[in-house]
Amino acid sequence: MSDSLQRFLHKRLETVREAGLWRRLRTLDGPQKPEQIIDGQRVVAFCSNDYLGLAADPAVSAAAREALDAYATGAGAAHLINGHTRAHAELEQALARFTGRERALVFSTGYMANLALVQTLVGRHDTVFEDRWNHASLIDAVRLSGARSQRYRHADPEHLRQRLERAPANGHRLIVTDGVFSMDGDIAPLPQLAALAREFDAWLMVDDAHGFTVLGETGGGSCQHFGLDAGDVPILMGTLGKGFGTAGAFVAGSEALIETLIQTARPYIYTTAMPAALAAATLASVRIAEAAGDRRDHLRALIRRLGAGLDALGLPHPPPDTPIQPVILGDAARATAIAERLRQAGFLVPAIRPPTVPEGQARLRITLSAVHSEAQVNALLNALERALHASPGG
Ligand code: PMP
Repeated sequence: MSDSLQRFLHKRLETVREAGLWRRLRTLDGPQKPEQIIDGQRVVAFCSNDYLGLAADPAVSAAAREALDAYATGAGAAHLINGHTRAHAELEQALARFTGRERALVFSTGYMANLALVQTLVGRHDTVFEDRWNHASLIDAVRLSGARSQRYRHADPEHLRQRLERAPANGHRLIVTDGVFSMDGDIAPLPQLAALAREFDAWLMVDDAHGFTVLGETGGGSCQHFGLDAGDVPILMGTLGKGFGTAGAFVAGSEALIETLIQTARPYIYTTAMPAALAAATLASVRIAEAAGDRRDHLRALIRRLGAGLDALGLPHPPPDTPIQPVILGDAARATAIAERLRQAGFLVPAIRPPTVPEGQARLRITLSAVHSEAQVNALLNALERALHASPGG
């Protein structure tokens, strides 16, 4: 390797290390379940987005195995060449039904789906109104689209109104928000955003990666939670690697929206389709998720239990609406120290630090799953109490 490249890379790494923001890659042996062996240590994990416990569900694995026999492993090519199988088509139909939209389109990752959507909808002469705490993939998508960006204060429709009132008259207006915020666990004020979209002739796009399967009677996400339909939220995106327990993503919307993505979205056209076995596994998980009222009830009970425990420790936490329950500790070093003590006690809870969250808002991001037990939540609370007291300044 050339000397200048080596020097450049070492300097970049030094900057990360000096800022105290070094991230460690851990290696998991075995399936994605609360009980894990990671880097050789037995732990109970409270960090996955597998909210319904479908990532290691036997019925989902069985569907994958069956589809492996039918389609083998490789997708071979992009969807528009010959990577699109009957398994993908069936999954898309199921997701359209699941979301109550005319049509759905599957992507290999959520990051790509967001790039595809935003680039398709807006360009240089348009304006995008973004919640300040939107997911990184949305922020990057807006940047790459070349559209003007107007960020409004987190979950603040009044501030969005001011932004809309002052926006240039030319071009289209797109309002983009997470449905459930991935680092804070709160739900976007979608009814108010939908009303503003109507009033200002803007288009509303919701990334409901963390809402699907968890919120709403049949897991239909934040739209179902608020009783909103396609008239309110015409552009809907979800990921498959969270509550659905597999990997990939989808966009759901009108026939015209989906066909426009197929015909024009570069991140759709120029990338390999997800393997068919993954599509078939996800079809099984969509069916389970729809009928998983018992899993959602258990999950809600765990969220309430955790909330009561955090209250007893004097730790603020979001309302018990979603399984993302961050404990904000402020200082990045403190968050890291407490996460490390928890790990030593056998609990995996990630410390989330800037730039993922704003400066001074480092936190433990506790996520719950329907396959956690109440005993595991109680044990985590006990370990957290000890970790807080052992931590300097804690
Ligand atoms: N949107 C949100 C809100 C997310 O949390 C994530 C994943 N962390 C993504 C999009 C990206 O999805 P994927 O992991 O499938 O690329």
